[in-house]
Amino acid sequence: MTENLFALLRARFPRDPDAPCLIPREGAALTYGAIDALSARMAAALDQAGARPGDRIAVQVEKSPAAVALYLAALRGGFVYLPLNTAYRDDELDYFLADAAPAVVVADPGGAMPGLAARRGAKALLTLDAGGQGTLSDAAAAARGDGDVVARGRDDLAAILYSSGTTGKPKGVMLSHGNLAANALTLHRLWQFGPHDVLLHVLPIFHTHGLFVALNTSLLNGTPILFHEKFVAEHALADLPRATVMMGVPTVYVRLLAQPGLSRETCAHVRLFISGSAPLLPETFAAFERRTGHQILERYGMTEAGMITSALPDRPRRAGTVGWPLPDVNLRLNPATGEIEINGPNVFTGYWRKPDKTAEDFTADGYFKTGDIGQLEPDGMVAIVGRAKDLIISGGFNVYPKEVEACIDALPGVEESAVVGLPHPDFGEAGLAVVTRKPGATITAAQVRAALKDQLANYKVPKLVVFAADLPRNAMGKVQKAMLREAYRAEWDKSLLDKDKSI
Ligand code: AMP
Repeated sequence: MTENLFALLRARFPRDPDAPCLIPREGAALTYGAIDALSARMAAALDQAGARPGDRIAVQVEKSPAAVALYLAALRGGFVYLPLNTAYRDDELDYFLADAAPAVVVADPGGAMPGLAARRGAKALLTLDAGGQGTLSDAAAAARGDGDVVARGRDDLAAILYSSGTTGKPKGVMLSHGNLAANALTLHRLWQFGPHDVLLHVLPIFHTHGLFVALNTSLLNGTPILFHEKFVAEHALADLPRATVMMGVPTVYVRLLAQPGLSRETCAHVRLFISGSAPLLPETFAAFERRTGHQILERYGMTEAGMITSALPDRPRRAGTVGWPLPDVNLRLNPATGEIEINGPNVFTGYWRKPDKTAEDFTADGYFKTGDIGQLEPDGMVAIVGRAKDLIISGGFNVYPKEVEACIDALPGVEESAVVGLPHPDFGEAGLAVVTRKPGATITAAQVRAALKDQLANYKVPKLVVFAADLPRNAMGKVQKAMLREAYRAEWDKSLLDKDKSI
């Protein structure tokens, strides 16, 4: 029996081919029958363009129902789906194409992709625009295929996603059909998907969250998906009364809270608000509960493993925790560092063409080292307390930025903060805090430092506190700490010199 993920999904599609699958905000819905047929024709078009099972299909296109059909086409054709963030610039794209060596590249018409694809030896470049038109759709319309699903084993690759690692060059995370199927089945069951569910989909589909977590669970359920081309708070709010499940990154919930129309009534029909990809602030959790009566359900995962832990629909949730390890995930903490280590059927098969890096990131007994520092609560819930790579070692002492940020965030007048390490002549490294104030607040750097000195050991207190209007975030809501280090480096160096002068 094939273990092709598409075969599993299709077996769960509704019997009625006219059942809606993807419902865009404007225009007609793509039904389950139509997406099945379109993906078959697209798979045939990819084959005719020269792709063979196991070949990579690199895709950089806008979010659209046709783009979802293309993802399914890659699965059913036995190709390896390689989605690329629409924000990537030419140099980044060139790196991915050189590294992944895709047979076929699908891109928005225009831009640099045709040149890059040709230079990197792709057999074909096909286009797909935001409206679902282009040479791929033309070829699909003309293609004749038997619609067969190509047989795949559990360990055969289904996708490569480049991880948004904070250091070094991005690495291609190889995910098998078995990895994706196991995680989708587990989440589908754990989150209690049922016949009346409707998903509100507002996330990008080049990342594990919007692509695998949101789409695979919903497709397994044969559910209608309210498919927003991007997250716009007003649009999401308008569709909430029709939805039963919404998945978002923390920023999505912050922006929804800024909408005066968000109320118990607008959310009356929703059974689960799910958040992940970045830490949800306890204030956001509390404010959302006050406004809507809903406790946001937080889950924790990463490109390399899909989802790892999750809070549960029928148990109370606690801000600052990300729930329990999924039933088929073994999770432990490294006794020395607190780093979360995992194994399970969801854990990726390795980094593309980087066996050394893969070996480095697994323990001798086969656990993947996540790079996240965790803590186990007495009831078994996991809390993420920091990133191993984020760790600041100041004068030989470990400083977890997350701990310092939590103290700063709790000060009156502070909206949020990010703490990063920068080189320091005496301590090797020391902390810089970048803080945003609440509207109208006047808290000063001296006040922040004074308050921290009361609460934290001195080596943890940032040596410099600066204020900014916003923290830079990527598409998934993660604070871009590397950008902060760069942006404030000159100011940091100057503050060290000024201190020298004052001695
Ligand atoms: P990515 O591979 O882009 O999905 O990033 C994965 C990383 O995001 C994890 O290793 C965590 O550091 C972080 N992350 C994901 N979910 C959460 C969460 N619920 N709370 C805190 N951090 C999270």
